[in-house]
Amino acid sequence: MQHRIIVLGAGYTGAVAAGRLARRLHRDDVAITLVNDEPDFVERVRLHQLAVGQGLKPRPLGEMFAGTGVEPRLAKVTGVDVDRKAVAVVDANGDAEELEYDTLVYALGSGWNDQGVPGAAEHAHEIASRPGALRLRDRLADLGAGRPVVVVGGGLTGLEAATEIAEARPDPAVALVTRGGLGDWLSDKGRGHLRKVFGKLDITVHEHAAVTGVEADRVTTADGKDIPAAVTVWTTGFAVHPIARATALEVTDTGLIVVDGTMRSVSHPDVYAVGDAAMAVGPGGKPLRMSCASGIPAAWQAADAIAARLTGGKLPNTPIRYVNQCVSLGRGEGLIQYVTADDRAVNAALTGRLAALYKEVVCKGAAWGVANPTLGLPVRRRRVVREATRTDPAVETSA
Ligand SMILES: Cc1cc2nc3c(=O)[nH]c(=O)nc-3n(C[C@H](O)[C@H](O)[C@H](O)COP(=O)(O)OP(=O)(O)OC[C@H]3O[C@@H](n4cnc5c(N)ncnc54)[C@H](O)[C@@H]3O)c2cc1C
Repeated sequence: MQHRIIVLGAGYTGAVAAGRLARRLHRDDVAITLVNDEPDFVERVRLHQLAVGQGLKPRPLGEMFAGTGVEPRLAKVTGVDVDRKAVAVVDANGDAEELEYDTLVYALGSGWNDQGVPGAAEHAHEIASRPGALRLRDRLADLGAGRPVVVVGGGLTGLEAATEIAEARPDPAVALVTRGGLGDWLSDKGRGHLRKVFGKLDITVHEHAAVTGVEADRVTTADGKDIPAAVTVWTTGFAVHPIARATALEVTDTGLIVVDGTMRSVSHPDVYAVGDAAMAVGPGGKPLRMSCASGIPAAWQAADAIAARLTGGKLPNTPIRYVNQCVSLGRGEGLIQYVTADDRAVNAALTGRLAALYKEVVCKGAAWGVANPTLGLPVRRRRVVREATRTDPAVETSA
């Protein structure tokens, strides 16, 4: 009997976890299925680029995983029964099916978060998903010269979206609305550079302003100001899909699956969660933020832990830490803000064209790691130990 591993979601973390599991476990002993609702891998970190008309390289999952031992499955996950160990899916023809697992890796990621602000769901555009980015692309393509575009949210995604749109449009009328100050978590150098680039691109910044309403032609802030907006782009963070919350898994108030240091559910040991869908504690006791920067190492950790537990090897014990925040500011400008292990800015930053190149290399590297799931890692396909004889593995001492 093969051990059935189902990975839900073929984004950055699910695809990486599936590929690594295939590299770690003997093919005769496991059946690895990777369920995704899109036929190809979507480079989510480039969706602001897609929104301004740049093309994304097609990466069909079938080609990526051909011959790897991972079976991609095009289907939408509609529910998970963690007590019966079954996943409900609906395929492209609308046919429903149930898939049974022995081990589940939940990596369904996140979508946009309209924070319940009135009018946002109806009038604002999102770039957390490919369909959302494509809708924005069509809208921007139709938009007349000089018509105002407002980006709501001053986090990393908002900064990248505002600069990308301003650079791409010949008639910049782009504004950014942020609750805090522009880049207020960055170092002095980082913040200064950000202001310089925003100035060069002629982006109007509304700081210390909370958007409380969105209409077809404006956004309204808490102090009653109307900001004209022919297009509103909403980037105030991500929210997870409601599927985990509807299960018996232990989740946070916001629906994230609570996991331990090996990314294993604290309530259901057969379930692992990684990426945006998981609540894992990182350095300094702080939750890992929704990012590839920590999601990909978490996926490695989960895959290695699953393999160790199945084969009787040693559990991984590699601390996940942050190194930098890489921000694109259009195609020719960037900002690499170096950070502490727990993601606080230090007084060092790389800026300008070199930073843009650095960010490009990081994005390419992340996509390469996903697109070549079984390369770059030594093959150590170990045999699965039968459940009856399995003991809890020791923790690996070397990082
Ligand atoms: C514009 C933008 C820029 C970003 N820039 C950066 C950056 O520079 N650095 C960084 O670290 N992070 C960045 N992020 C965040 C990063 O993209 C996410 O943290 C990362 O994608 C999370 O990986 P994941 O595998 O958890 O989820 P995802 O990459 O979102 O993958 C989830 C997968 O699950 C699939 N799925 C979802 N629901 C279902 C379902 N019901 N059934 C089947 N399949 C489903 C999706 O199609 C997708 O393939 C950015 C995000 C955006 C939107």
